[in-house]
Amino acid sequence: MGLESALPTDSVLTTNLNRVINWARRSSVWPMPFATACCGIELMATACSRFDLARFGAEVMRFSPRQSDLLIVAGRVSVKTLPVLQRIYAQMAEPKWVISMGACASTGGVFDTYAVVQGVDQFIPVDVYVPGCPPRPEMLIEGIMAIQRMIDQENIPRDPSGQRRALNIALNPNYEPRHQPRPVTIGAT
Ligand code: SF4
Repeated sequence: MGLESALPTDSVLTTNLNRVINWARRSSVWPMPFATACCGIELMATACSRFDLARFGAEVMRFSPRQSDLLIVAGRVSVKTLPVLQRIYAQMAEPKWVISMGACASTGGVFDTYAVVQGVDQFIPVDVYVPGCPPRPEMLIEGIMAIQRMIDQENIPRDPSGQRRALNIALNPNYEPRHQPRPVTIGAT
């Protein structure tokens, strides 16, 4: 890599072990995608060459909770699916993180019905809320970077009993929605 030539031969590097561990952790986040609806398509786009999630070391989707440390809930979650989501979260390796991607995962979105969970944070701790319907891939990357900053600072909040608490970080949209190019008319004129 040429790194050796940049370093003087007789020098010694010292660092804190925790810093090395956190650096390795945040550079190799392994997401567990829980994609149930249209947000899942944007999640897939995030890994493609145009957005290239690999730049952040987080492109290795595992599809196995025991090998994952970042749960990305992308899409609406029905009441019937909820036990599956909870089981996946329980099986993931510690320390683990959760991103709620899109309006449906965070609030139920437009699906204000008895069959759809009105926010997954009622059942699992959510660290980062990514806004949008759907969020653009850049927005999801913003959410992953927020998680990486937290890992760097070793910010794993716990309550007095030692239970993991959610970070509850709500991201601001990083884009301005454009107005409709022309007024929308409904019905024949
Ligand atoms: S937030 Fe929008 S894009 Fe995402 S799952 Fe819900 S309806 Fe689909």
